[in-house]
Amino acid sequence: MGAYAPFSSGRERGMESDVRKNPGLLKLDLYCRGIKLDDSCTIEEKGGRKILRTRAGLGSGLELILPGDLWTNVPVVEDFVAASPYTLGWRDGAFWIDHEAHGPVTPVRLSPQPSWYNRTTSTGKRMTLVGTLQGTYLGVYPSKVCEYWLKQPDKEQCKFCSVGLNLGADDGDEKSVEEVVEVVKAARAESGITYVDFNTGHYDGDTYLDILEPYIRRVKEETHVMIGVQTPPHRDLTRYRELRRMGVNRISFCFEIWNRERFQEVCPGKHRQYGLDRYLEAIRYCAQEVGPTGRDFEPWVVNGEIIAGLEPAEDSIRAIDWITSVGAIPTVCVFRPLQATDYATLPPPKTEDVVPVFRRLYEACMERGLPIGVAGNVHVSLVMLPDEARWLQHDPNRFWWGETKLKLMRKVFAARLRRELGRGQVAVPVPA
Ligand code: SF4
Repeated sequence: MGAYAPFSSGRERGMESDVRKNPGLLKLDLYCRGIKLDDSCTIEEKGGRKILRTRAGLGSGLELILPGDLWTNVPVVEDFVAASPYTLGWRDGAFWIDHEAHGPVTPVRLSPQPSWYNRTTSTGKRMTLVGTLQGTYLGVYPSKVCEYWLKQPDKEQCKFCSVGLNLGADDGDEKSVEEVVEVVKAARAESGITYVDFNTGHYDGDTYLDILEPYIRRVKEETHVMIGVQTPPHRDLTRYRELRRMGVNRISFCFEIWNRERFQEVCPGKHRQYGLDRYLEAIRYCAQEVGPTGRDFEPWVVNGEIIAGLEPAEDSIRAIDWITSVGAIPTVCVFRPLQATDYATLPPPKTEDVVPVFRRLYEACMERGLPIGVAGNVHVSLVMLPDEARWLQHDPNRFWWGETKLKLMRKVFAARLRRELGRGQVAVPVPA
């Protein structure tokens, strides 16, 4: 791995290495270091989102919008943040990120706090207990806590995960279909969301898809938003054909770790119950064998999700190369040692160690002609997206032809999505 430090010389070979000029690198550096809030940061008073530790597991930070329209979730409460060189402060009517050695980095915007965040459903449940915005999409964890947290005598949860710690704090337990539909409609009408992501952990008996299907059918029927599903890999892979027919547009399998020994160590429950190979086979199957629905507009994307910083970068890169080789798109999170988890005292990764991983992420997707960044109105705060990793390239223009195609796809996609959403029962303007 080459020597690298933000601000060092302005260039690391071809890549701009000054975070004042490279918001992609700043997004990554903030994931790895976090940011301190100075006393002027009254986030909610100034329209920002409360810091929620939701069951999405990794999101415990401050939702910000960086230059380049990069949405992010920056660690603020974990212990490692105390050593961060970054501070967020309010001055002259704006929030500024400052660097302790280099002064002002950039002004930033807070991701707006939606009006529905303070409301309750008709059943009296706080709407944020049903779903929360992660960037510009709605994340819903509709069922009970992942059962790896309940195993006795030894829990089997993934070591980085905080899902079982959050329960009853920032996220509710069971949610009815009606409650979820109500919150999706509020988020659609008031926050303009176009995508809902359903997430579950592991339940004995492979029941997660049975649990999700009633939610998926109703939300699709009533709003026509795009829908994503993230669960363990179901034993019966033909269920994914059915999910697609139901209107699911994205399916994501989080195997987290490519290195088999590390996988066993970091994710003991997943290893015992499924094993890495079942995750990989589900990704391959969904990317290659789930056919079209026959409906006019039904985009289909398959993701394999990994965490950078819990295994050597070379292994993360191997995972990226494998995922893209079967036609799926990698989702790469940056390891965050969340408070009270098994890995709370581990250090976060160094930025220079994860830059090559994200650099390869963009390259591999472009080499395979995968449709990245096509849903232009979906901004994701919890991960750095493949198209955002363009900021880390030494020579991004070498993919000019693929990028031209993607631009065209983005326009066609936006027009078709607008038409599709117009069929829903929620009358709102669709963001361009
Ligand atoms: S499967 Fe692992 S990461 Fe997912 S909710 Fe369960 S313990 Fe957490």
